[in-house]
Amino acid sequence: MILVLPGLYIGSVSDVTDVQALQDAGITHILTVDSAEQKDLPPSSQNKFIHLLDDSSADLLSYLPECLEFLKSALGTPGSCVLVHCHAGVSRSAAVIAAYMMNTTGCTLEEAYRRLQDKKADIKIHEEFVNQLGLFEEMGCKVDISSASYKQFRLQKVTQKYPELQKVPREVFASDPASLGQNKEILFRCRKCRRSLFRAGSILNHALGDGPAAFAHKKMAPLQALDLTKCTSFFVEPVQWMEGALLGVLDGQLLCPKCNAKLGSFNWYGDRCSCGRWVTPAFQVHKNRVDEVKPVPIHGR
Ligand SMILES: [Zn+2]
Ligand SMILES: [Zn+2]
Repeated sequence: MILVLPGLYIGSVSDVTDVQALQDAGITHILTVDSAEQKDLPPSSQNKFIHLLDDSSADLLSYLPECLEFLKSALGTPGSCVLVHCHAGVSRSAAVIAAYMMNTTGCTLEEAYRRLQDKKADIKIHEEFVNQLGLFEEMGCKVDISSASYKQFRLQKVTQKYPELQKVPREVFASDPASLGQNKEILFRCRKCRRSLFRAGSILNHALGDGPAAFAHKKMAPLQALDLTKCTSFFVEPVQWMEGALLGVLDGQLLCPKCNAKLGSFNWYGDRCSCGRWVTPAFQVHKNRVDEVKPVPIHGR
């Protein structure tokens, strides 16, 4: 194992079985980021296990908050030393440490990556994690679950994890604005029957720089500035009332749950916006089928 930051080591699976070396380094905390949990960890240390594969389906981003919390709490304790390890000590563990460096020092992904490679030359973070860390950087070196980029990312992971689309986790559906009480947010309603359909916060804009795909492009060549006035649809996160239409179905129409008016269409594997941008997955509502409703100010307070 190799010391990469004060009190923070990176290592492979063989490092955790070397009890003497762990003792000599004064390791008090072990974070395992691997496909299998380690059985013979020293009982004296505080250990955390994150199940993560080193492949393109893996969702590192969703685990980063608990990894960062573990590292911060460990490294905030005087006299503690942490080992972050995966199988080979080159990709997953390095990705977690890079995120920690970015989050705590505000450095860029590029800087974090370079500093890690200076300490351990064979570090090579999987391209999928590089993209996810790019998104992490874009969100301000934290995981912002309310950001459009993160929501879009999560939806992409859903289609990879549940290709049959039968048992999609319920939390990917935004709550139905029609079932909520007082509206404090801008809402969009069916133009025909006025039923509330989605909140402004559910719109997933695909401006330049949105999403991991855009990040990958950005590294190669700057995208041309998109003219969002050319978008004739709103791309939204799925809302609860769409559930029946979306589950187990790859693509189809989106109809108003009250009056059945055609609102738009969906495709879990993506669709092209009228502006030319490809969006994956795509749940689109034509702008001319909905009306924007501003929240009514509450008087008498
Ligand atoms: Zn567009
Ligand atoms: Zn309607």
